[in-house]
Amino acid sequence: MDQVASLAAAIRGAETAVALTGAGMSTASGIPDFRSDSGIWNHFDPEDFQYHRFCNDPEGFWTDRVELHETMFSGNVEPNPAHAALDELAGDGFLYAIVTQNTDGLHDDATAAELVELHGNAHRVVCDSCGRRTDAAPIRSRVASGERPPSCTECGGVFKPDVVLFGEQLNRTDLRRARELSRKADVFLAIGSSLSVEPAASLPRTADRNGATTAVINLDKTPFSPLADFDIRGDVTEVLPELCAEVD
Ligand SMILES: [Zn+2]
Repeated sequence: MDQVASLAAAIRGAETAVALTGAGMSTASGIPDFRSDSGIWNHFDPEDFQYHRFCNDPEGFWTDRVELHETMFSGNVEPNPAHAALDELAGDGFLYAIVTQNTDGLHDDATAAELVELHGNAHRVVCDSCGRRTDAAPIRSRVASGERPPSCTECGGVFKPDVVLFGEQLNRTDLRRARELSRKADVFLAIGSSLSVEPAASLPRTADRNGATTAVINLDKTPFSPLADFDIRGDVTEVLPELCAEVD
């Protein structure tokens, strides 16, 4: 049996399969990556998106943030076959949860799986005072019409993109839940993540220590690859549909 078929068998037999997804999941959806030569941080200065800048210069921060958002979503951004495969696995009861490092909201259709967005969601904003979350699109329009920074109509606080900014702590509840899911998983899939930054780097290790069958599905080797039960190098938009077909 090849690796994909063997992994499919493990997923069929699993009670709690958990997927961790990273930037490689979304490149086929037209989301530019952040760190390559043609990436976002070659066009924008990461310093401008620091949490301390949001606190000290929310007007300037929001002006740059709207431009960044437009660049990120300038293409026709839609879920790709890799997202569709995870949606289907979840819908058929083979995928319990998705933990994602992505902020693009492209897992929104996988409603049958629990979703933990470790770095937040760029399509929402959160009030820095009352914690209210709301859709980001109308807020960006208000910014474009000159309301900088945009303020919460409930309490007058300042809206922040509901994403984890540089220099900002991850949401504790989300982080705790991601770790719990990693301990609970009997199959853990790390998909399209370089697994080079925390906490993503340690989640598959946690799953492995707790006896999960682990798989890395990624174009390149990751630091966890030598430890994984399955190390599948390939394009996620090809491997995941194949895996999904094998499971069904
Ligand atoms: Zn508020």
